[in-house]
Amino acid sequence: MPHTARDLPFEIRHSPIQGFGGYATHAIAAGVRLIEYAGERLTPAQAEARYPDTDGERHHTYLFAIDDAIVVDAAVNGNEARFLNHSCAPNCDAVIDDDRIWIETLHDIEAGEELVYDYAYTLAERHTPAAKRRYPCSCGAITCRGTILAKKR
Ligand SMILES: [Zn+2]
Repeated sequence: MPHTARDLPFEIRHSPIQGFGGYATHAIAAGVRLIEYAGERLTPAQAEARYPDTDGERHHTYLFAIDDAIVVDAAVNGNEARFLNHSCAPNCDAVIDDDRIWIETLHDIEAGEELVYDYAYTLAERHTPAAKRRYPCSCGAITCRGTILAKKR
């Protein structure tokens, strides 16, 4: 069962988007750095070996690519950041700073709001309709693009 660490301005509980989500425990201003997206640092080859991308299968990992050389796997030594869901209409952003990933607020957040950011996954392959179906989005936003893959490469 996930828990919420002291000091964090959000708590982890069930989300209608998927599984667990992070919810603001009080109002948070725009531009606040909330938490590092922590985890084991892998090369893309190590990440691929750990989580083979099987055709037609729904993708579900805690991988986050910093650049072409480093992938963070939050399933190993990760923290609460891994529970934050994707949304196509995000109120947070993942910011890469000095080879580390930070989740920051994009807008003012109200107490109780779910904290979400745009995963904007990029695949090595083209983002075909079939690829998008393997990375579906259920964020419910009016502007939902139906996939957590990035809009363009
Ligand atoms: Zn969406």
